[in-house]
Amino acid sequence: MPHTPSRRAVLRGLTVGAAVIGFDPAARSWAATGSESGPDFAELPALDGTLVTDEASLAAASDDYGHIVHRRPVAVLRPGSVRDVVAMVRFCNTHRLSVAPRGQGHATFGQAQVQGGLVIETATLADIGPLGPDATTVAVGAGARWSEVAKATIAHGLTPPVFTDYLELSVGGTLSVGGLGGQTHRHGAQVDNVAELQVVTGAGEFVRCSPTRHPDLFHAVLAGLGQCAVIVGATLRLVRAPETVRHYLLPYDDLETFLDDQRTLAEEGRFDYVEGQVSADADGAFRVYTLEAVAYGPPVGPAPDDTVLLRGLRHNPSGVQQSDRPYYDFLDRIAPAVAALKEAGLWSHAHPWLNLLLPGGATATVTREVLDALTPDDLGPGVVLVYPILRERLTTPLLRTPRDAVPYLFAVLRATPPDDTSTIDRLLAANRSAYEATAAADGTQYPVGSIPFTRADWRTHFGSAWPRLASAKHTYDPRGILVPGQGIF
Ligand SMILES: Cc1cc2nc3c(=O)[nH]c(=O)nc-3n(C[C@H](O)[C@H](O)[C@H](O)COP(=O)(O)OP(=O)(O)OC[C@H]3O[C@@H](n4cnc5c(N)ncnc54)[C@H](O)[C@@H]3O)c2cc1C
Repeated sequence: MPHTPSRRAVLRGLTVGAAVIGFDPAARSWAATGSESGPDFAELPALDGTLVTDEASLAAASDDYGHIVHRRPVAVLRPGSVRDVVAMVRFCNTHRLSVAPRGQGHATFGQAQVQGGLVIETATLADIGPLGPDATTVAVGAGARWSEVAKATIAHGLTPPVFTDYLELSVGGTLSVGGLGGQTHRHGAQVDNVAELQVVTGAGEFVRCSPTRHPDLFHAVLAGLGQCAVIVGATLRLVRAPETVRHYLLPYDDLETFLDDQRTLAEEGRFDYVEGQVSADADGAFRVYTLEAVAYGPPVGPAPDDTVLLRGLRHNPSGVQQSDRPYYDFLDRIAPAVAALKEAGLWSHAHPWLNLLLPGGATATVTREVLDALTPDDLGPGVVLVYPILRERLTTPLLRTPRDAVPYLFAVLRATPPDDTSTIDRLLAANRSAYEATAAADGTQYPVGSIPFTRADWRTHFGSAWPRLASAKHTYDPRGILVPGQGIF
């Protein structure tokens, strides 16, 4: 039963829905007291939305797409307004209670979970529009999903320039990590295409920030893993959308040629989108390489010409697949596979994901080592992705990438039965070893996966950006209440 504290419930044991909750200042957490006679602690603010503590909501907030880590909050806020976020973050700040915003809960290792604190579900903050002056930007709520943003902007012949492969992620969720996709070699990450953010800091202040307005906060929030502020809205840059695209799948016989051609395409910008996959051959060896490339048609580019687009590439010409598709169908291309996985019950498997960013020169060696140790059983109904990004297009200080002109994203997106904990532990250990090999080669992780990470690892990860992140944390979240699930501070 939702709590609608317009009647200003008193925290004498915070009565939320059916549960009675007491705040234990020593433990800095709330706990069920089972009685209404607890001491007075504070007053809950009036809310436009709801604060819930029912079992289903708490169980959902104690889980994520990884199904590996489980931390139970004491309440979940479904804000009816930005004012609710301000009020509850101030409340939590006063009482030193931890807070984690949660978009679509598609992190894989507890990043949006918070033991004994408050989860703020942003899905209710999902307004899209209006378009900005000259239709070069659009204002969106942090809880909007990229599928909704795409549909709304394509209706005006416009589009954000970069998309993740899966569109049902929240804007706030991907702007907190980076947001990489096949367009990144052309346009940077999603975080590089933000004109302004509206945030609520850990101290409960609503702030608009941009590259020129509170730039320290702006740069601490983009790819900032939720450490300094809750994103409540973003103004996203837009470009013209194509009506249709030509989509190619190009098979390669060896890893080095595949990576080399990917690099050439990233440097030349011949295609609008470049990614790639590695899959297992009939013997279970991960030696089948497929370059995925997409050229946008009018009004963005000329009508795609196969001769021009494929010139000089060294793929195996016998296995080329190509198709022309409406732009949105291309963006949403993995939706049928997701529907099939859901239908088969495999979408709810555990996801001990490995996501690495490798310097170009080390990519063949590190990926070969990981792929040689990978079995089809350990990948399960998952995929292996490898694709290049162009460092000069990346401008966000906290999106850490190797110091190389063309680094590669290498992702082993495993799926395994959630009750087989010994396999999950073994795969987490394998992720850790792969991270160590990557770090030794001057690479790092792309922090959306499941790699056991220490606070010292985070310092190494942020490198020269660490002092500024630590300083922003001190300034904007002085009591350290935000997003403990990342394990950074
Ligand atoms: C199927 C699938 C495909 C994916 N494909 C890609 C891809 O192609 N490219 C890519 O870059 N990533 C990809 N990801 C990773 C994804 O971008 C991140 O996991 C992202 O954080 C998930 O968004 P979410 O809304 O589910 O966030 P959540 O899991 O809810 O949150 C993730 C983190 O961000 C914080 N956070 C969430 N919302 C906010 C907010 N409003 N303000 C501040 N902090 C916030 C949370 O506290 C948490 O720490 C994929 C993930 C999945 C499951």
